[in-house]
This record gives sequence, C-alpha cells and structure tokens, in this order.
Amino acid sequence: MNNNSRPSRFNTVIDNDCVERVKQLVLASPRIVITCHVSPDGDALGSSTALCSVLRAMGKDATVVTADCPPKALLFLPGVRDIVAATRQPDAATSLIAKADLIFCLDFNMLARVDRLADAIRSSQARRVVIDHHLDPDIEADVLISHPEVSSTSALLYIFMWQAYWCRYLTRSSAACIYTGMMTDTGNFSYNSNDPDLYLIIHDLLRKGIDKDQLYKLVMNTSSESSVRIMGYGQYKMQLMSDHRLALIMLNRDELKEFDYSKGDTEGLVNTPLAIPEVTWSVFMREDGPDMVKVSMRSKGDFPVNRVCEECFGGGGHINAAGGEYHGPLTRALDHLLKNLPNYDNFLK
Ligand code: 5GP
Ligand code: MN
Repeated sequence: MNNNSRPSRFNTVIDNDCVERVKQLVLASPRIVITCHVSPDGDALGSSTALCSVLRAMGKDATVVTADCPPKALLFLPGVRDIVAATRQPDAATSLIAKADLIFCLDFNMLARVDRLADAIRSSQARRVVIDHHLDPDIEADVLISHPEVSSTSALLYIFMWQAYWCRYLTRSSAACIYTGMMTDTGNFSYNSNDPDLYLIIHDLLRKGIDKDQLYKLVMNTSSESSVRIMGYGQYKMQLMSDHRLALIMLNRDELKEFDYSKGDTEGLVNTPLAIPEVTWSVFMREDGPDMVKVSMRSKGDFPVNRVCEECFGGGGHINAAGGEYHGPLTRALDHLLKNLPNYDNFLK
C-alpha cells in the first residue's frame, strides 16, 4: 500500500495499485468511452451512467457507448438518454471508440459480450480498464478490476470510487444510478445480498439524497400493459419437468407478436418459477428472430446454470443467473436442451 491508500472500510478491497493506475489513466485521457454488455440491464446501465457523470464532473469528455438501446423501463435513469447506441447511431459509436484515449468496460468479462462493438474496441488504440463481477474474465486490459464476490458492478464501482476519493463527484442522480444497479442485480436485495458492504454503500447513497422507495417503484414495480400480459401468459404456459426439478417457459415469435412484445417486457419472467419449492432451476427461451433464440436461466443453491449456458448455449454468467443463445428455431433449441438435461442431473443431488 502506498501513502495515498485509504484505510479499508469495506470487506472488499480493490488492489490500491489498480486504483492508482486507473486514476493516472483518467488524468492522462481527455476522451473517455464507457461501455457495457449488449442488452444492457440495470447494473450495466447504472454503473456506466454513474461513471460517465463522475468523469464529466472531473472535466472529462466522457460518453457511454452501447451495442444496443436501453430497455424502456430504464429510460428514467439519469444520463441514459445521452447514451450512444450502435444500433441507432452506428457511425457515432465507432467514431467515439476510435477516437477514445481510454475505454472503461463495465459489467462484462469477454469482448464477445459487446456484440457489434467488439471489432471497434479491439482495433482501438485506447487504453482499457475493466471493472466487472463476472467469473473468469477473459479480456485484455491495462487495468483489470475483477471481483466476482461482489453482487453488482455498480457496488464494485462505488467501492472503487470510494478508494479513489471520487465519491465527492457523485450527485443525487448518479447515486441513483449506482443504487439501481445494486438493486437490480440482487432482486431488490433478495439474493446475493448478505454482504454488509452493500448496506454501507446504501447508507452513503441515501446521504447523497436518493429516494430508494421511488427507485424501487420505478424499476421493480412499473410495467407496460404488454409486459403484464406476456408475463402472465408465460407463467401460465410454464412446463414443469419434475425429474429434473426444472421449470421451462418458451415464447415463440408468433406469441411475441400477438402480445405486442417489446424489448424488456419479459425481464424477470425467468425468476418467477423459482418461487415453487420443488423447482431448482428455471429456463426461459425466447425466439427473437428466425434463427435466434435468447436463453436465460436462473437457479437455487449450487446448481450451476452458468455451466449449462456455457456448455449448451455458447454463453455464461453467474452460478445462479446466466444466459446464452441458440442459433436456430425454438423447437430445435428445445430439443438441444432436452438432449443435454441428463448431463446436469448430478448437480441436483
Ligand atoms: P439475463 O438472463 O438476465 O439475460 O442474464 C443473466 C446473466 O447471464 C447476465 O448478467 C450475464 O452475466 C449472463 N448472460 C446473459 N446472456 C449471456 C450471453 O449471451 N453470454 C454470456 N456469456 N453471458 C450471458
Ligand atoms: Mn452485473
């Protein structure tokens, strides 16, 4: 530890050399891009917009660049409307990345997770800082801050900011972004949420003036009509495979159309079957295109859905929350899952 290091306050301590190196990189970099994973969720967007706001407060030319657009439900997040999404502004997105001196990669552990931005980031001359909480990071970086034991990248970012003496740049708005990320990655502090650090951070964010009750209402308790209907329909259709302690929900393209589905409408659907005590894991497969099925999985205890997603659907994630894709029709994705099910029965014992 050098003389600049702060005595620890949190259980999680980020290596102080990493903190100092990030501070030096920021000092030396006028143009900064922040990016996060494709189909950004509350944690990806909350951490990215909070960091962007802090860097701007420090006088930096900072922009959040994402592969695709934020879901409607998160448009209320301060700063989210300034995001440059490559699906909507492809030239601006690639130009910002090409001209950046420094790129922050938040909430992902491999470049494939930024989808259409991967090539631009790979060929950019910018220095790279990764701040993430996914297992087994596989991404080149000048500074890698990887703490899988922390439940959200937003909480990890807050600890980083605290160690870097950057919390003074956090406003009520950017504090709300951090809180949103912490809340969404823990199901409103109902899982991965026993770490006392979380409550120290929440204490600080409340002191910054956030209205956590209002944020809960906005994020966890606000839905469109199409979302309420499709969530009910999905749960009604759920199939239980008791031999495998599995609940399966599938929605094909015709059903999505019938329910006027828009992105984000099925957020949280995969979690609902876990309320059933006999269910250990839950799979949701959504046919997003003629050859594209998005797969989401959730589990309880030691059942490793990240392993299932990695081995069967080219994806990954956390032990209890993971995802992947199947390139083909939904019926074939189902066959593929069913064929592989017996491989995972031993994790049920
Ligand atoms: P969700 O089911 O909410 O889309 O994703 C849950 C978690 O699984 C995410 O936080 C992310 O870590 C991981 N995940 C989701 N989709 C993918 C994917 O296509 N590839 C990888 N590697 N991880 C994914
Ligand atoms: Mn996350």
